[in-house]
Amino acid sequence: MAKRVVLALGGNAILRPQQEATVEVQLENIKTSAEQVARIEALNYEVVLTHGNGPQVGNILLQNELAKDEVPPFPLDVCNAESQGFIGYMLEQSIKNCLHKNDSTSNVVTLLTQVEVDRKDEAFNNPNKPIGVFFTKEEAEQLEKEKGWTMMEDAGRGYRRCVASPHPQMIHGVDAMAHLLSQNIIVIAGGGGGIPVARDQEGNLNGVEAVIDKDRTGKKLAELVDADVFMMLTDVPNVYIHYGKPDQKKLEELSIEEAQRYMDEGHFADGSMGPKMQSAIDFAKKGRTAIICALDEADLALQGKAGTRIVG
Ligand code: ADP
Ligand code: MG
Repeated sequence: MAKRVVLALGGNAILRPQQEATVEVQLENIKTSAEQVARIEALNYEVVLTHGNGPQVGNILLQNELAKDEVPPFPLDVCNAESQGFIGYMLEQSIKNCLHKNDSTSNVVTLLTQVEVDRKDEAFNNPNKPIGVFFTKEEAEQLEKEKGWTMMEDAGRGYRRCVASPHPQMIHGVDAMAHLLSQNIIVIAGGGGGIPVARDQEGNLNGVEAVIDKDRTGKKLAELVDADVFMMLTDVPNVYIHYGKPDQKKLEELSIEEAQRYMDEGHFADGSMGPKMQSAIDFAKKGRTAIICALDEADLALQGKAGTRIVG
């Protein structure tokens, strides 16, 4: 029986800081991920791939802002759907090309993924995730009044809109994913954390102005498709304690208890490694394996030869 893995691609997989956001540059970056997916598939794994969208959705918001007098800007849920669409297309094409080169009979499908959040999630009381373009103080005050946005100063660079980052409660399309996986089809889903939606009082789905953390959605996906392994592929080869200090030490294999102890001791930064470790611990608690590793070592990490793993 093939094992099942969910891979969550970090920001660097698609666009690195300082790079120009052309399609050519992003396609070139994506090749590394596509090659890894093809290798993992060749190790007899069924693969679900999810990915971030920070820089890409940021540029969609910038396009909206610059063109707003000509074309009405779209809400955040639609911007997420746009980014899932074009990133999914690039990943799908690149993976298909690798499979073709390897004479693999597998295929790839991208699913636009709605992810339900709870309107009562406490994140909505504290919108703290900055998104999109920078505004002046005056513009920020205007937007607060006009649109009811929450605006916050961002590290001296100007004012940005902040939105809630609620927990993913339910992911649409999981049955379809399971069916596709069983048919030798690699599934790309839940990009950018998924399209945030919620049900109204009549039970109808509506888009929500929020963003969902991609590592949390990845973990939820891994639970729902009953994956054996959940991997977060990022830009560091391992997780470290005393990270960036002279006594930094790399972590290889950890129990849930050890991981939790290091977490409690504050070794993992809030906006980056913290949520990854939390997702890894939560997943391992289901008696499964969670791995955090460098993108280009994903195949090795899956074979226990690289990366940091938490074993439940
Ligand atoms: P991604 O786009 O892959 O989600 P993040 O920037 O959110 O990437 O998370 C990866 C980053 O986490 C690394 O580049 C590193 O600087 C940072 N980091 C913080 N604490 C640690 C730690 N204890 N060990 C390893 N990396 C850490
Ligand atoms: Mg991150």
